[in-house]
Amino acid sequence: MKIALIGNQNCGKTTLFNLLTGSNQKVGNWPGVTIEKKSGIIKGSNNELIDLPGVYSLSPYSPEEEVSRNFIFSEQPELIINIIDVTSLERSLYLTTQLLELDCPIIIVLNMNDLLEKKGLALEEKKLSESLSCSVVTISALKKTGINELLNLINNKQYLNNYHIRIFPDEIEKLIDDIKINFINHKRFQAIKFIEKDTKIELDNETINLNLKELEKEYKTDSEQIIATLRYHYIEQLRNSCIKNSENKNSYSEKIDKILLNKYIALPIFFLIMALIYFCTIYLVGNSTSQIIEKGIHSFSLYLTDSLTSLKISTWTLSLLTDGLITGVGAVLIFIPQLITLFLLLSLLETTGYMSRVTFMMDKFFNRFGLNGKSLVPFLVGSGCSVPGIMSSKTIEDNNERELTIILVPFIPCNAKLPLIALFSSYFFIRANWIVAVSLYFLAILIILISAIIIKKLFYKNKMSTYIFELPEYKIPSIRYLTRDVFDKTIDFIKRAGTVIIICSLLVWFLASFTIDFRYIEGNILTIESSILAQLGKGISWLFYPILGENNWAASVSALQGLIAKEQVVSSMAVLNGLASDASSNDIFASGGLFANFTPLSGYAFLIFNLFSAPCVNAIVAMKKELKSKRKTFYAIIFQYTLAWTLASFTFFIGNLF
Ligand code: GDP
Ligand code: MG
Repeated sequence: MKIALIGNQNCGKTTLFNLLTGSNQKVGNWPGVTIEKKSGIIKGSNNELIDLPGVYSLSPYSPEEEVSRNFIFSEQPELIINIIDVTSLERSLYLTTQLLELDCPIIIVLNMNDLLEKKGLALEEKKLSESLSCSVVTISALKKTGINELLNLINNKQYLNNYHIRIFPDEIEKLIDDIKINFINHKRFQAIKFIEKDTKIELDNETINLNLKELEKEYKTDSEQIIATLRYHYIEQLRNSCIKNSENKNSYSEKIDKILLNKYIALPIFFLIMALIYFCTIYLVGNSTSQIIEKGIHSFSLYLTDSLTSLKISTWTLSLLTDGLITGVGAVLIFIPQLITLFLLLSLLETTGYMSRVTFMMDKFFNRFGLNGKSLVPFLVGSGCSVPGIMSSKTIEDNNERELTIILVPFIPCNAKLPLIALFSSYFFIRANWIVAVSLYFLAILIILISAIIIKKLFYKNKMSTYIFELPEYKIPSIRYLTRDVFDKTIDFIKRAGTVIIICSLLVWFLASFTIDFRYIEGNILTIESSILAQLGKGISWLFYPILGENNWAASVSALQGLIAKEQVVSSMAVLNGLASDASSNDIFASGGLFANFTPLSGYAFLIFNLFSAPCVNAIVAMKKELKSKRKTFYAIIFQYTLAWTLASFTFFIGNLF
């Protein structure tokens, strides 16, 4: 007979498959998709076992889910082995509740039991079996325990029949019964999928549609959401009745959570922690290191000038090296100690397990606004760099929600924005620099929340998928992992400075040192006005008038370079300022310079523009890849620029009133 092996990703399917089949395996691809197809003969029998792709539900949302569902429907396996990772019980049982709706006997295999024991927990196999009305076996595929019991059960066909337990309230069960009669096989499954608005199931019945509408009215939400919520309710009860705390080994995590996840103080604590991170990064480390490094780079530049002048090289070569290269790259390297601090602190939050808790806490908070908690993961990932943030949106099943997330992820301040934030806040707000940084972080969260609500209300129908997070234990972070992580990220940043930033700085130097007819101009505040870059900048500087309160071509062209890399804005400002000032002063906002008219207010507004405008090219490419549409990407960029401009102008306008 045919037996299907099904479960979530990483629940140990392949490990169990290998144990049950020994070496009798065939590997290929499922027809039409590049998903691995593995089948084999179970030891001591001639039953064929098929390892289905890892799925979290049986809705046809992803290719994996489609393959699994098609298999069950077209191949009609005689038995389904549902393997469960007991350390993620809720998530696994979500799939189980759907499998139990099929007309097929199910054996539930509780895997990773060794891990559960370590946690001091135990699952009552018998109780679970009674509640779900199917056979349950506890195993550990890794430790090879319980495998013989499972083999016996399968080969001797001693498993229980599937009696289709009823898990929904009476009115919904009645509705299911009414719908059921319209189908031929897997009736309960198809009926419930129909209520879940499954696109693959068609049924045109006036009364049923009316009843569905009634139901949605009563529950005040979409019928798909109703079913999902009820499933989770059921699972929660089941879990509570079947799980036993044999020893209270993990109580320290619970104790910490009592404080960190407390209803009233969880959010303030998160705010405090983020504030502390910026305080350490920008205030403690920034204030003490940036001037020293700046002095170092400045003396190096002077030394180079001296030695090269004695070699009698041309003024423009000298300017290219000092004003272009060293100033441009140096301007971003100054921030390395601060970046290392930021990387370290964020990595600490992640490895200790606090970040997953923030996600959990925010999930509840976001749900109140009708947003999916699952989209929080990309935002957390995006706080390092938008590219992986955008990529990680793949896990969001609902198309609209995924697109919304992709468009909003770049608003979260990424690492490359730190130099910008640190430069402006430290110059204009001196001791309060970290408060400014924190204010921008929370402004970003606020804007994301508001835009999400507005976009959702305007364009997307109000739908929300339930997502249950499971909290990992708090862990003492491993020093090796931390150092590696911080090291990798720092090297990454330096590499960018050594490639993208060098090239752009040289380009800026070139465009600011030559006139349209390619005459070299020895830059000062007056002559630079006739450079190619100044001419280009003057064409667009009116756009920035509402943000800066002046027509500043140099700031305008610098802001546009944020498209290449956000730290390039700082680099470009440094190069331009260096070219325009005689004393090659390293104070970007020095009086008499190109950026002398900046005030704390226009500085803050300019920062806002840069933080919220379209992300760098890399992120835009990622956006295009995930949105799968040039048109949508274009609209997203327009939206981001418009929002950034409006927000910055508004800030400047309001600030001026006071
Ligand atoms: P699949 O994605 O469902 O095919 O999962 P795999 O069989 O590839 O297993 C995922 C990971 O879980 C592997 O690293 C396994 O070694 C591990 N694993 C599987 N079963 C157990 C178990 O019973 N206990 C523990 N601790 N780890 C397991
Ligand atoms: Mg596998």
